[in-house]
Amino acid sequence: ATLSSYSNNGKKNVVILGSGWGGISFLQHIDESKYNVTLISPRPHFLFTPLLPSTPVGTVDEKSIIEPVVNFAVKKTKGNVSYYEAQATKINHLDNTVTIKSFSHVNPFGDSKNPESIKKNDSADIKYDYLISAVGAEPNTFGIPGVQEHGMFLKEIEHSPKIRKQFIENIERANLLPKGDPERKRLLTLVVVGGGPTGVETAGELQDYVDQDLKKYLPSIAEEVQIHLIEALPVILNMFESKLTSYAQKVLEQTSIKLHLKTAVSEVKEKHLIAKTKISDTETKTEEIPYGTLIWATGNKPRSIVTDLIKEIPEQQGSRRGLLVDEHLKVKGLNNVYAIGDNAVAGLAPTAQVAHQEAEYLTKVFNKNQVGSAKPFKYLHYGALAYLGAEKAIANITYGKRQLYTGGGLITFYIWRVLYLSMIISWRSRFKVMSDWFKLALFKRDFFKEL
Ligand code: FAD
Ligand code: NAD
Repeated sequence: ATLSSYSNNGKKNVVILGSGWGGISFLQHIDESKYNVTLISPRPHFLFTPLLPSTPVGTVDEKSIIEPVVNFAVKKTKGNVSYYEAQATKINHLDNTVTIKSFSHVNPFGDSKNPESIKKNDSADIKYDYLISAVGAEPNTFGIPGVQEHGMFLKEIEHSPKIRKQFIENIERANLLPKGDPERKRLLTLVVVGGGPTGVETAGELQDYVDQDLKKYLPSIAEEVQIHLIEALPVILNMFESKLTSYAQKVLEQTSIKLHLKTAVSEVKEKHLIAKTKISDTETKTEEIPYGTLIWATGNKPRSIVTDLIKEIPEQQGSRRGLLVDEHLKVKGLNNVYAIGDNAVAGLAPTAQVAHQEAEYLTKVFNKNQVGSAKPFKYLHYGALAYLGAEKAIANITYGKRQLYTGGGLITFYIWRVLYLSMIISWRSRFKVMSDWFKLALFKRDFFKEL
């Protein structure tokens, strides 16, 4: 069936794909009195990714950093807004429709006679006048053998309890074995691959749990836990200036995280991985690292719905990172499809900050009816922050090209906290994160195996 929701009311249909930084920011800012708005996403919540590294160890609770999509949708009271909990499987740009597969029973307008309702697992085509693609990206394994089978990612909220469960089970099993047993050592080894901000923050949080909580329950186990951070480049966090990256490296090493720089993982087996360290231009050293828990954080690649569309459009040929967009964020080669966030290639980093600004820009254009005649999108860089563990963070805060603050340490950690609180896009979530941090000052982390 082709669903064209509101085709009779004279307003144009804007269809948004994705409930992440791009999609939800767009939904928040679009004037629903001017357009019929439909959001399609298999994920019924928004995820505040900047605090995702804090959840596997329970520094922050998983539910604190997700917000149901419907909480954003109900605020849009001035017009028609509907949400399909569904995956878009194909963009049919010649027909101006998106094919979706529904993940739940959906009756978008609550009217029992509504012909637009669809059942779980049904497929349907949704008609659009304008399409906003904000489907993000997915973890990239670079085709390295064994990663998909044995590695764990930290990209969506459901990854977080999986990491915690595996770490707890390994601790339990290690605790049955005598000290000095190589199997005990393996179980207590965590390897994080990728020294970008996801990998660094995750390693820092894991070490915090070991030093601040596990040490109190099981001191002999805690002192044997070894976290490795493996990075192919000569530096970690390469988007920061060298003063801050050297400081970050020093902090990680002080907290006993073992750094492997110029080291690329080339294969992953069930209980060990193979890492190759570049010693000189011609020489590499190959090492086997046994692990109990492996977290793979080497960045992202485009989703299949995006690569399928790229194949169909001559102007997109050769694009490997996502949909090429013009200065108005319009997908090159198409008239009424826009791309924002990680699935768009606009010459900017794949960050929440960029996705949010792109969504804000585009909604302004739509709200002022300036589609086709607006000024180009201009990005304003507010800087970057990263948590390192041990209550230390680094920050480079800017306003465009103007430097406002550069630093690292405890004060920067508090600045990090305040700025992250201010970035959270709902008051419910902000309140929950604040209370999680307050709780942490009084009690240990919530480190539950089954939750
Ligand atoms: P996402 O936020 O990933 O949203 C994509 C949405 O599309 C999701 O809802 C998904 O379910 C949905 N979707 C997927 N497939 C389909 C489909 N076929 N049909 C419909 N919907 C679909 N950036 C920063 O600026 N600062 C930070 O501190 C920061 N920290 C991060 C920490 C972590 C652990 C991670 C993983 C990322 C972090 N980022 C940070 C990067 C930031 O999260 C991304 O750049 C941002 O999420 C991109 O927004 P997006 O809307 O493009 O994609
Ligand atoms: P990333 O792409 O930034 O970093 C991945 C790292 O993995 C790279 O440094 C790369 O050299 C390394 N790598 C790749 N293959 C490897 C291999 N086989 N062996 C060893 N190392 C390998 O990925 P990310 O950290 O997930 O970040 C993704 C995006 O999200 C970035 O744009 C980042 O800025 C943003 N982000 C920002 C923050 C923050 O601001 N605090 C936090 C997380 C993510």
